[in-house]
Amino acid sequence: MEKGKFTFTIIKPKAIKQGHMIGIFNMIDQAEFKIRAMKMTHMSIDDAKEFYSIHKDKAFFDSLIKFMSSGHVVVAVLEKENAVEDFRNLIGSTNPAEAKPGTIRHKYASSLTENAVHGSDSNENAMKEIAFFFSRREIFNIQ
Ligand code: ATP
Ligand code: MG
Repeated sequence: MEKGKFTFTIIKPKAIKQGHMIGIFNMIDQAEFKIRAMKMTHMSIDDAKEFYSIHKDKAFFDSLIKFMSSGHVVVAVLEKENAVEDFRNLIGSTNPAEAKPGTIRHKYASSLTENAVHGSDSNENAMKEIAFFFSRREIFNIQ
């Protein structure tokens, strides 16, 4: 898997509950990302703690873990040149109140915690996060 061409996303529980999955994937498609793997799953509390372990000492950690394990999520591997940076631009600021029009969080996020989507913040983390959720067998058309 060539580093730099892939990123990883989670459509978070509230966005799934509100029926925004198709709208979000439509924006991802319009921005010319290719979906190389995708599935619906439910993160356990331990999954969420491990996935967001970098934030374990932050004041918001418990609410983040509770939220991320509160319902189904959809996880996906996305391919595009400059995938990590382009996807961070497409999703917009962490706080939806600051997310620009045209971004996923501006359109679909309800609050700082319930901010609709996750996007990897570096190539290294993208590779780690993909391996956290997907086996090689599940990833379509990746050398
Ligand atoms: P994500 O990792 O989910 O893509 P992000 O990279 O934009 O989000 P991070 O700094 O990694 O932002 O924070 C992870 C998540 O923790 C955010 O998506 C948000 O829901 C929550 N979070 C971040 N900062 C705060 C804060 N100050 N107060 C409450 N929740 C926060
Ligand atoms: Mg992050």
